[in-house]
Amino acid sequence: MTSPFPYNYHSHSKYCDGAHQLEDYIIACIGKGYQSYGFSSHAPIPGGSVWNMKTEMLEKYLKEVDVLKKKYKGELKIYKSLEIDYIDGIQGPSRYAHLLDYTIGSIHFIGKGPLSGLFEIDGPYSKFVTGIENHFDNNLRKAVEHYFELSIKMVENDPPDVIGHPDKIISHAISYNPDIVDTSWYTEILNEFANTLEKSDVIVEINTKGLKLTNRPTTYPHISFLNILKEKKIHFQMNADVHKISDLDIRYKSTLNLLRSLGINELWVRENDEWKAKSI
Ligand SMILES: [Zn+2]
Ligand SMILES: [Zn+2]
Repeated sequence: MTSPFPYNYHSHSKYCDGAHQLEDYIIACIGKGYQSYGFSSHAPIPGGSVWNMKTEMLEKYLKEVDVLKKKYKGELKIYKSLEIDYIDGIQGPSRYAHLLDYTIGSIHFIGKGPLSGLFEIDGPYSKFVTGIENHFDNNLRKAVEHYFELSIKMVENDPPDVIGHPDKIISHAISYNPDIVDTSWYTEILNEFANTLEKSDVIVEINTKGLKLTNRPTTYPHISFLNILKEKKIHFQMNADVHKISDLDIRYKSTLNLLRSLGINELWVRENDEWKAKSI
């Protein structure tokens, strides 16, 4: 089946927490008529995690992407990237940028204290609750404010080409407080972050992976944030955050309809090694 929008720049593989070998995704993409595809495994982090690439695998990964670029030249434009964790004072997108065609910068870890003590905002919900308890005295607002402070810091001080799932914390935060998007403090943070993004050259990802959730499916940015972002001069990009081959194009059709209904009529894709707007 042909893809409704044959582009994706956020994807994983066996090098991190994805399901298949790099080449398997390429073959599937060619079958769907993809124009370009970017690999963005979770970059290594100091101390590692179950889902980040191991440091010793990085060289092999970069080489394998290069080999595949050549092998499939003329059939699919393949790009080499990493989804790099921004960890305050420790690392950001610039750490790996020199090795890559472009960078994705994401925030998965928040909290105070040593790296080993940080907690993942998109792990199981029970761990999120424990994290709020241990790091933020059971105060969700403090945790959410900290998450967006880090996001703003990354965009201002160590900007990636693309910011991954810019409000991912909403997924668990809205379970913790179902009224969060109606609070004035949350809207205020979103406005501040949107202004920061508008001032930057960072492309804002519209990540469709959260639409697979059974409980409160959402794009990242959540609709509450999209409604703010659509008023700004911002470059958007749609990605499926592919882990399995079946994630290709996931909810692309409905997301395209949503974006058009919001007045977002172009998405940024990579052509001849440059980002370009494409009408949808
Ligand atoms: Zn991510
Ligand atoms: Zn990802």
